[in-house]
Amino acid sequence: MATAGGVWNLETIMTEHVVSLIWDAWRTRRKGMGAIAQRQRARLADMVAHARAGSPYYGELYRHLPDRIESVEQLPVTDKKMLMERFDEWCTDRAVALEAAEALVDDPSRIGEWFLEKYTLVTTSGTTGRRGIFVIDDRTMAVVTAMMFRWIGDWLSLGDFLKIIARRGRSAMIMATGGHFASAVAAARLKKRLGRRVEVLSAHTPMTELVERLNRFQPAMIAPYASMAALLADEQEAGRLLIDPVLLVLSAEGLPQAEYGRIARVFDTKVGNSYAASECMFFSCMCREGWLHVNSDWVAFEPVDADYRPVAPGEQSHTILISNLANRVQPILRYDLGDSVFQRPDPCPCGNPLPAIRVQGRSADVVTFRTSGGDVRLPPLALTQPIEAVRGVTLFQLAHSEQERLELRLQITPTANADTVWREAEAGLRNVLAEHGLDHIVVERGGEPPEQGHGGKFREVIPLSDART
Ligand SMILES: [Zn+2]
Repeated sequence: MATAGGVWNLETIMTEHVVSLIWDAWRTRRKGMGAIAQRQRARLADMVAHARAGSPYYGELYRHLPDRIESVEQLPVTDKKMLMERFDEWCTDRAVALEAAEALVDDPSRIGEWFLEKYTLVTTSGTTGRRGIFVIDDRTMAVVTAMMFRWIGDWLSLGDFLKIIARRGRSAMIMATGGHFASAVAAARLKKRLGRRVEVLSAHTPMTELVERLNRFQPAMIAPYASMAALLADEQEAGRLLIDPVLLVLSAEGLPQAEYGRIARVFDTKVGNSYAASECMFFSCMCREGWLHVNSDWVAFEPVDADYRPVAPGEQSHTILISNLANRVQPILRYDLGDSVFQRPDPCPCGNPLPAIRVQGRSADVVTFRTSGGDVRLPPLALTQPIEAVRGVTLFQLAHSEQERLELRLQITPTANADTVWREAEAGLRNVLAEHGLDHIVVERGGEPPEQGHGGKFREVIPLSDART
């Protein structure tokens, strides 16, 4: 999911609680990994005790565990399916009920409305079966804000801050209205509060209109979907879009790594990047070196293999387990997020002591080819790397459209030659297939641009089971 929801949630910033969280976040990071680990342990013990006392589900799940828990490894693994099935018992606020939550998220006219007058509801798009509904409390929002402050402090200079103030903090958000509930909620609320300082634009607005409105608005900060940022960079390059933002905030999905550099160059600005999930909206923020630093004072994360055994830094994990240490209304503890990550084994050159990772796509996006010699399973990264390496690709999507057919949809920069780009991408993909004895697979040039999924996200790889539905 996009993290825009939290970034701009200014309504909570001024409270005393948030100020102390910002102070704590800054101080903890300065003290280094020891302080971070100590915060994590204390918060975990506190959260587990809270979950046991308030959630009938966790009370039962943890009934045989010792009284005080200080390590996540002592806890059983949970996932979306397990928790969603026991939704009402999972939440610690006994007033929370699935039926009422579903009624709210399924009604577009109620976007921006609080749930039970105090919670925000966030959904996951459900690429792997069941849709998740997450109940976010004020404390989570406060932690999101504190993490964003810590992050922006790394990115922006004093000059940048002055520029933002000079433009009265004008921010533009571009989102898939109706699709992405979390962002839509945040935007609707923020618009109400800040009025003219925030422009909320829909990703479905025709490009000419989008360009015109942005030119008029001149945002200091802009938070588009990553794929939309690539299109806006094209417009700016062509001289139609004329904006000078201080910061572009993107979500980490959907763009080849090199594209972030191009966008930064075209707008002559800083491109901030974060990666989060509905289950943990403050999960990580990207540094100048292109690594995502996990806010591990507020989230315990474990890269693990398919059997939930720990995977050492420097090795690719199958999935990650996360424990959200902020959200008290709906505890997420040792939860299988389904993302494959790579953790840097050495300190990140940027100097940030928080663990540095790269996310390599959903483990659910593994593509399986049936062959006479047995199934060949390829992780999404194996298929996407050769395409990412081609210059001129701004966005792509690989759909396993039929058992022996892959369809590659490309979006390219206006200055690139479509046929050259296609030939290079196809050759790279063919090499990978050949290495795995899959020469017989047909690689087809998609006539359509990459398709936007639920919630406006672009999936790079669509496995056969999903491509058919
Ligand atoms: Zn770093």
